[in-house]
Amino acid sequence: MSSIFLPPPTQQIAIRAGVELNVLRLDCMHPWVNGNKWFKLKYNLLEAKEKNFTTLLTFGGAYSNHIFATAAAGNLFGFHTIGVIRGEEKLPLNPTLSFAVEQGMQLVYLDREAYRQRQTTALQDEMRQRFGEVFMIPEGGSNLNGVRGCTEITKGVTGFDTVCVACGTGTTLAGIVLSLEKGQNAIAFPVLKNGGFLKAEIDSLLTNYLASGLPAPVDSPAPWELMCDYHFGGYAKVNDELLQFAQQFTKDYGVPLDYVYTAKMFYGVMDLLRQGYFKKSDGLRPAGGERILLIHTGGLQGNIGIEQRRK
Ligand SMILES: *Cc1c(COP(=O)(O)O)cnc(C)c1O
Repeated sequence: MSSIFLPPPTQQIAIRAGVELNVLRLDCMHPWVNGNKWFKLKYNLLEAKEKNFTTLLTFGGAYSNHIFATAAAGNLFGFHTIGVIRGEEKLPLNPTLSFAVEQGMQLVYLDREAYRQRQTTALQDEMRQRFGEVFMIPEGGSNLNGVRGCTEITKGVTGFDTVCVACGTGTTLAGIVLSLEKGQNAIAFPVLKNGGFLKAEIDSLLTNYLASGLPAPVDSPAPWELMCDYHFGGYAKVNDELLQFAQQFTKDYGVPLDYVYTAKMFYGVMDLLRQGYFKKSDGLRPAGGERILLIHTGGLQGNIGIEQRRK
């Protein structure tokens, strides 16, 4: 299953006062099935195959990276896919949803109130009555299979001290901190407002994962913290400063950023660097400062939608 994916390249972008910035380009693994969304899908698809399901059903917003990735991965690995979309149908379909349909995904819409019930057995039973035997994957691929896949994100990558990653639900962070070695740590940048609540959610995700018996590379999570001040007003909210930062960053380093997740995280890292947050070189060696690994979690497909909505 993994053989059609390129191993994600690591790209060095800068060294400032001995602090090394390297980017792990999960966006480069496959044209459509990439980023953290592929890692979160991997073990869900394997479980579905093993249990002989032929249809995947999942949930998401109209611009969702997860809907996009599930449609493409389903097509690639021979599953029918059903996307349950929050809100009413809007025609013509936006670029995310028209791509999903091209990949063979069947779209169904739930009004916001019904969508809120997506985790309940009542709604899930209703879906099974309507669509038969389907393998359900939660919104964002954010379940324990999702965590398991994310323990593989930094596999084979060496020579870093601190991982930085954008954070929606924290599933990706959870997988990462269950795979780090002694001496390594992680910083997560919530992209939604008041992201502090994620601390408790991620703690319980980690506890549940470790109690589940699923394989974990290490038996206790590496130290991690949240940086909650880089949300730019909330989920999918952007301003000119953020857009300009992302565009300039792409010009300077040749790394495209998505506005919903990675641009906010990269902005945060550059800001912390300016504030002297990371350990600098001792001056005796050319290097010797903190070695940062920024995870490019993908999501570039969403930029078209954001750019269109701002016009
Ligand atoms: C979904 C997503 C995230 C957030 O992942 P979580 O596991 O929910 O924290 C980060 N970056 C991109 C590009 C995403 O699509």
